[in-house]
Amino acid sequence: MPGYELFGASERKHVNDVMETGILMRYGFDGPRKGIWKAKELEQAICTAFGAKHAQLVSSGTAALTTALSALGIGYGDEVIMPSFTFVASFEAVLSVGAVPVLVDVDDSLTLDPAAVRKAITKQTKCIMPVHMCGSMADLDALQAICKEHKLLLLEDACQSIGAQYKGKYVGTIGDAGTFSFDFVKTITCAEGGVVLTNNEDVYVKSDGYSDHGHDHLGVDRGADLHPFIGYNYRISELHAAVGLAQVERLQEFLSIQRKNHGALKAILSQVPEISFRRIHDVAGDSCTFLSWFLPTQELTEAVVAELKAQNILAGNFYWFHNNWHYISKWDHLKESLTLNALHPDLKAAVIHHATKDFSASDAIMSRVISSSISLLWTEAQIKERGEKIVAAVKKVLASQKAAV
Ligand SMILES: *Cc1c(COP(=O)(O)O)cnc(C)c1O
Repeated sequence: MPGYELFGASERKHVNDVMETGILMRYGFDGPRKGIWKAKELEQAICTAFGAKHAQLVSSGTAALTTALSALGIGYGDEVIMPSFTFVASFEAVLSVGAVPVLVDVDDSLTLDPAAVRKAITKQTKCIMPVHMCGSMADLDALQAICKEHKLLLLEDACQSIGAQYKGKYVGTIGDAGTFSFDFVKTITCAEGGVVLTNNEDVYVKSDGYSDHGHDHLGVDRGADLHPFIGYNYRISELHAAVGLAQVERLQEFLSIQRKNHGALKAILSQVPEISFRRIHDVAGDSCTFLSWFLPTQELTEAVVAELKAQNILAGNFYWFHNNWHYISKWDHLKESLTLNALHPDLKAAVIHHATKDFSASDAIMSRVISSSISLLWTEAQIKERGEKIVAAVKKVLASQKAAV
């Protein structure tokens, strides 16, 4: 997810445009800003690049999720179905609007298992929130069908999969709303930032106001704006938007390098018959930020992870099953509902319920998968060396297991 790997003249130029006027805020100061509106320009560029009708920039991907949930009217008493494998931000955002995160199993696509989603639907369910993890997409046809059948909203957390497509459309633009993150490790970055994408004007207008204290942004004088509802401050700055603008312009360049490097690494790992790969719902639409591969058992996978570590080549290869940030097994703070402020007792009980919920189907997947992040900077020789070292480590583990039998 490496936009930070390729920084250059273009990023500097856009930032300097802002520095020259000194107007670091995205709203107001119409005179002194001398026609420099980086956030507005970036929103327009995002709409064009991804084919969304509307884009609202905010200060982070987490803020984008929170804003989208609020704009969709999700709050007290509502349940949001989301996957057990995601980044903590997904459930943080749901909790921040007072709704109930309902975590359910993922399948071998590392995204929401539609059958598990169906089973989790109750009278309180309001929204399905697929997370397009590690550069690839959830099963949107199946999830959209469920939404239609049960009259639910679809909010795509596409924070990790900028540039991935599902059946010819960019992920994040397909549901009622979608979000990208531009944090430092995402496909395109502006240090900290995010965006709400939607084709629904009402959701856009609400996102616009919500992320700026409820301002209606209709007047020419910011001080005279009306406040049709209560909002917060999730604004992006002009400096961040300037960097984002340079990065969006380079997206296709990043994606094509990613796809080439991903293909080369996959070809090497494919030599090992015991290695299988993540199921991708639309192979042509994979953004290829990661190559995710499976071994036959948890035991073998743990042994391979240990071997990669021993050989000092674990960096860039993620074993999410034992990872603090991405999988339910390590989220004790969620399972114990360790919030700083009091939650409504019903919400707290629903959160704590995750401690005793059965995630064995997810465990069976997540305990066997390793995701190798794809660098934009690799040379062909480096990919070959990296791939061959991984293959050697896997073969060594497989041989020692056979010897032990
Ligand atoms: C990065 C990420 C977020 C949150 O983005 P921030 O900009 O870091 O707040 C949300 N969901 C997923 C799946 C992410 O990977």
